[in-house]
Amino acid sequence: MRRVVAYALMVIFFLIPYLRLNGKPLVLLDVPHRQFTLIGYTFLPTDTLLFMLLLMSIAISIFLLTALFGRVWCGWACPQTVYMEFLFRPIERFFEGGRSGSLAMDKAGGVKARRLAKNGVYLLLALFLAHTFLAYFVGIEQLVQWVQRSPLEHPTSFLIMAGTTALIFFDFAYFREQTCLVACPYGRLQSVLLDRQSVIVGYDPIRGEPRAHQVKDRPSGAGDCIDCGACVLTCPTGIDIRDGLQMECIHCTQCADACDAIMDKVGKPRGLIRYTSRDEVEGKPTRLLRPRVILYPAALVVAVGLLAFNLGTKADTDVTLLRGAGAPFTRQPDGSVVNQVRVKITNRDAAERSYRLEVSGVEGASLIAPQNPVAVPGSRTAETSIFVVVPDDRFEDDRLPSVIRVTDGAGFTLDIPFELVGPAREHDDAGDGE
Ligand code: SF4
Ligand code: SF4
Repeated sequence: MRRVVAYALMVIFFLIPYLRLNGKPLVLLDVPHRQFTLIGYTFLPTDTLLFMLLLMSIAISIFLLTALFGRVWCGWACPQTVYMEFLFRPIERFFEGGRSGSLAMDKAGGVKARRLAKNGVYLLLALFLAHTFLAYFVGIEQLVQWVQRSPLEHPTSFLIMAGTTALIFFDFAYFREQTCLVACPYGRLQSVLLDRQSVIVGYDPIRGEPRAHQVKDRPSGAGDCIDCGACVLTCPTGIDIRDGLQMECIHCTQCADACDAIMDKVGKPRGLIRYTSRDEVEGKPTRLLRPRVILYPAALVVAVGLLAFNLGTKADTDVTLLRGAGAPFTRQPDGSVVNQVRVKITNRDAAERSYRLEVSGVEGASLIAPQNPVAVPGSRTAETSIFVVVPDDRFEDDRLPSVIRVTDGAGFTLDIPFELVGPAREHDDAGDGE
C-alpha cells in the first residue's frame, strides 16, 4: 500500500506545476515577487492575517494528525522517504544486486562500472527532480524558457538549478537517512506531539519475549520472536524496534512487513510488529477521546473557519491611498489647492485589469493623473500618483472630506473616503464678512 501511495504522490508532485485553477497556477511560491499562490488563491505581502491563519491551520493539522496517527507523514508521504525507498533504493538494488551485492562491492573496493552507472542514473533523476522542484518557485513557463536558453543568458538561475541538483544527488546518494536523524526537526518533536494512545509502529514484547533463535524445538515459554534480525536489517534508520519507541523511527513499517514475512514462514500469526499504541502494546486500556484529540480539532475549526470567512469576504482588488510626500498641499497660480495622493492598487485576478480613478464629494474638484485608467497586470500591484485640485473657497477649515472612487468598468466599484488638506481660513470675528 505504501508503494501505491508513494508512486501516486510522485505523479502528483510532477503534475502540480502544470495544473491551473481560476487561470492561476495551482501552486506557485513566487519568492522574488513575494507572492504565494495556493489552490488558485494568491497571497500577497499585505495578506499577513490570511497567511498566518493558513500556517496556523497547517500546523494544527500536523499536531492533530500526529496525535492520532503518529508519524504517518514520515512513513507514507515525506518526499525524503518516498523518493529514497521507492525510487533511489530500488535503482540501487537493480544496479548493485541488493544489500549483499553492495557490501561485496564495498569490500572489493575500486571503481565499479555498475556503481558508476547507478550514480549516472541518480544524477539524471536529481536533475529532473531539481527542475520540477524549481517549477514550484518560478512557474513552468519560466522553467521551459530557462531550459531552452543558454546558461550564460541566465547564470543566476542556472547556478540555483545546479546547486539544487547537487543537493538532491548528495542527499539521496550519500546523506540518506541522516536527513531524518540530523536535519529534520519534526522527529525531535514527536515526544511532545505523541501521547500514549497515538498510533505507532511497535513491537509486541508480551507476545514476542523471551525471544529465542530456535524455530524447531523452541524452549517452553519462548515468545514468538525468533531473533532473526530481519526487522533490524530492513530498518532504513538502522534501529531495533524491539528496544521500544525511538526518535529515529520514521514509522515506515518496513520492519512490520519483514516480520510478517518471517511469521508466515514459521507459522505464527502476523502482527508481532504492527500499528499499535504505547498503551496497547503494554496491555493497558486504550481510549480514542483524550484532551488533545478534542482541543486540536476545535482549534482547527476556528482557524479554518476564520480563514474561509476572510477568503470569502475579501475583494479581488485592494486599494490603498497615501498622502503624497513633502508639502501637504500646493497652490496653483489661480489659487486652487492641489493635494498629491499616492494610490496603490493590487489586482488579485489572473488577468490584467484597468482601474479608473475619480474624485467626488467636493463641488468643483477635479483629478489630474499621469495615467487614468491605471492598468494592473494579473496578480500584481501597481502604484501611481494622482493630484486632486480643489477651488480655494471650498475649504471651510484646513480639512475637507472627499471620496476617491475606483472602478474597473466590469462591476468593481470602491469608494474610499480621503481627507484633503488646504489652507486654514482666517475667520472674521466681527462677522462683517470683510
Ligand atoms: S523480524 Fe520479527 S522475529 Fe525477526 S527479530 Fe524482528 S521481531 Fe523478531
Ligand atoms: S523501526 Fe521499523 S518503522 Fe521504525 S524506521 Fe525502522 S523499519 Fe521503519
